[in-house]
Amino acid sequence: MDGNKRWVSGDLQHPDRDPNRRQLVAQEQEPFGSILSCIDSRVPPELLFDTGLGDLYVMRTGGEAVGPVVTGSVEYGPMTSGTPLIVVLGHQRCGAVKAAYESFRDGKPLPGNLDAIAKALRPAYDQAVKEGGADPVETMSRAQVTLTAADLRSNQDLAPLVAKGSLAVVGAYYSLDTGAVEVLSGAP
Ligand SMILES: [Zn+2]
Repeated sequence: MDGNKRWVSGDLQHPDRDPNRRQLVAQEQEPFGSILSCIDSRVPPELLFDTGLGDLYVMRTGGEAVGPVVTGSVEYGPMTSGTPLIVVLGHQRCGAVKAAYESFRDGKPLPGNLDAIAKALRPAYDQAVKEGGADPVETMSRAQVTLTAADLRSNQDLAPLVAKGSLAVVGAYYSLDTGAVEVLSGAP
């Protein structure tokens, strides 16, 4: 979050991005967080948290959609080397969420494999419909974050780590307009 403050203000440190750092982590890595974010070109976690080499595991899928392979990748750090933090990072004006929302609303499946993304976002759609509100795509984007973070927090492999206090699973939301990350759930 300190890094995100620097991203917002433009006072960037670009830490851990030189040959020394490369050598330091060449044999072994110890990232402090695992981030699951969207593929959106405007939401690269390493930039908006002002981090460098070896700092983060990063998973990116359309609308932070998960399935077994993605969930396994998110779990990798916490389960194998004690990575203490998972962040599910949604964002403003998410095209994947918007496409999934319209697909369900209009009863028109998305083409090809894109429909697998929509299907993974179905619980967030249902939640958004239940909540209502002026901007249903925004509501669905936030629901996708909090539902996905809650699922990870309570799954059989991660729940014991959360209960022990050695892992936090945080839901967060990125503003394209301001560059700021807002914590939605799970702050330690
Ligand atoms: Zn997106």
